[in-house]
Amino acid sequence: MMTRDKFENELTVQSHKDDGSLDPFHESYEEALDSISETLGGEYPLWIDGQAVETKESFTVTSPGDFDQVVGEFASGTKDDAVAAVSAAATAFSEWKELSIKDRTEIFRTAADKIRQRKYEIAALMGAENGKNRTEAMAEVDEAIDFLEYYCYSLEHEDGFGSTLTEPTPGQYCVSDLQPYGVFGVVTPFNFPFAILVGMTSGALITGNTAVVKPASTTPLTAHLFIEILIESGIPDGVVNLVTGSGRTVGQPLIEHEDVSGFAFTGSREVGLHIQNTFDELGKRGPVIAELGGKNPVIVTDTADISKAVSGVKFGAFSFSGQKCSATSRVYVHEDVIDEFTEQLVAETDELTVGPFENQDTVVSPLIDDDALEQYNNICELAQEDGTVQVGGTEVEDEELPDGRYVEPTVVADIPHDHELATEEHFLPFVTIHPVSSLDEGITKANDSDYALCAGVFSEDEDEINTWFGQIKSGMCYVNRQQSATTGALVQAQPFGGWKFSGTTGKFAGGPWYLQQFMRQQSRTVVGDVGSPE
Ligand code: NAP
Ligand code: MG
Repeated sequence: MMTRDKFENELTVQSHKDDGSLDPFHESYEEALDSISETLGGEYPLWIDGQAVETKESFTVTSPGDFDQVVGEFASGTKDDAVAAVSAAATAFSEWKELSIKDRTEIFRTAADKIRQRKYEIAALMGAENGKNRTEAMAEVDEAIDFLEYYCYSLEHEDGFGSTLTEPTPGQYCVSDLQPYGVFGVVTPFNFPFAILVGMTSGALITGNTAVVKPASTTPLTAHLFIEILIESGIPDGVVNLVTGSGRTVGQPLIEHEDVSGFAFTGSREVGLHIQNTFDELGKRGPVIAELGGKNPVIVTDTADISKAVSGVKFGAFSFSGQKCSATSRVYVHEDVIDEFTEQLVAETDELTVGPFENQDTVVSPLIDDDALEQYNNICELAQEDGTVQVGGTEVEDEELPDGRYVEPTVVADIPHDHELATEEHFLPFVTIHPVSSLDEGITKANDSDYALCAGVFSEDEDEINTWFGQIKSGMCYVNRQQSATTGALVQAQPFGGWKFSGTTGKFAGGPWYLQQFMRQQSRTVVGDVGSPE
């Protein structure tokens, strides 16, 4: 396969829009919906050393928007299975790291092509699994393809990140390069069960490490799809292994295992810091590449176009029910425009469609599990006591909807800026609105958080925008983004990651400095004429 000289994003929905009609997109998606019933409800093993491994126990996953729909029956791995997977990965490492870049990238490009061919099916299966609607699920499948293509491109383009030979003093020949660590643990969240899993797993593997992957217990099906695609694409046995089961049972042994040199994790701050602390306590020196939570602020100044701001906040806070690390969760609005802003946001929020993933007009998806539903009810009750619920705040009562976890998108006012509702991540369709008297006050309050993942501003004044860029503490910064104030990122153009407690590395996924984190440098010197270092 040829080295490609540039990278381009996979833009399925956008390219249909550019062609003038989304009809073909909807037709292909609906055909896929008809076909996925053959896959749903199947039984899924573990994958260890290239073999399907059955377990004594299993767990059932049902669709969050329709409890009668069984997604699948999945193997419950044990600690022994996790240990066997690490052994397989450790054994496979010595040959895998010696493979040329070209041989490695060929496998991941083949996988990208297979995903492209099955993109509608994968998007539909993801909807059944975690409730994501069609356009967002397709954007996620596109992002997975982008990660694969971009990481292949980067590795080739930088020739594996090696330096050229130098002779700093006569007869002293030096070169340095980056080398893989060994086995990586890869633990992933439910909300981007395909793209994040594909991104982190391919980051570890393409740089010459091997991996044991553990997906969120609510979303093991999309994980299976990717591992099966890698196997079909010719990945050697043991290079990638999949263990499903609870974090405590199969995740924890991966963190502790002495042969697991590095970790790639995306999920909550609590679990991410637990992984980092365990590495520290055990004296493990390898990297913990962790992407964590957010409490993403948006500022609306008195120069803002209010319609744009309302649109951006509405989609940022409520698409996929706010179950995004990047979801808009607190909004600081200039006191001169807050009434107009709030009134319009409430009216438009009331119009949003809450529904199952299959429906074309669904924006607000069902909640992933019973804990999320309980948390939603708790925070809405607290909002009623300590603030003013402007719209939402209850479960949806609609006989037409299947039996699932449907809740109303919720806008809350009159909550102090330092109240737990405005400081803790909830991961729910819930946003608080706060008045401010100046841009400076908005920036100070936006920055007053342990998290610093995504931030947005709405302003029509260039000086305000520049002030905001200069002072906002956030990994991802968006100005006047009406399609969503804080969510959504394209590989290469908008590398994704956070500062402070939103991430551990400061080097973002889908960006030019991501892959190097999975490797360590070796500096090689030969003195005299015996031969040059390679
Ligand atoms: P989570 O509860 O932290 O779970 C993430 C993964 O960790 C799951 O696979 C979970 O397994 C596993 N896990 C739990 N305890 C473990 C342990 N002791 N050892 C090893 N693994 C363990 O997160 P989530 O609820 O799936 O996702 C929501 C969180 O992810 C939010 O905080 C969100 O902000 C964050 N997130 C961040 C980004 C980003 O890029 N910054 C992107 C997406 C999501 P089980 O499912 O079996 O519990
Ligand atoms: Mg969780």
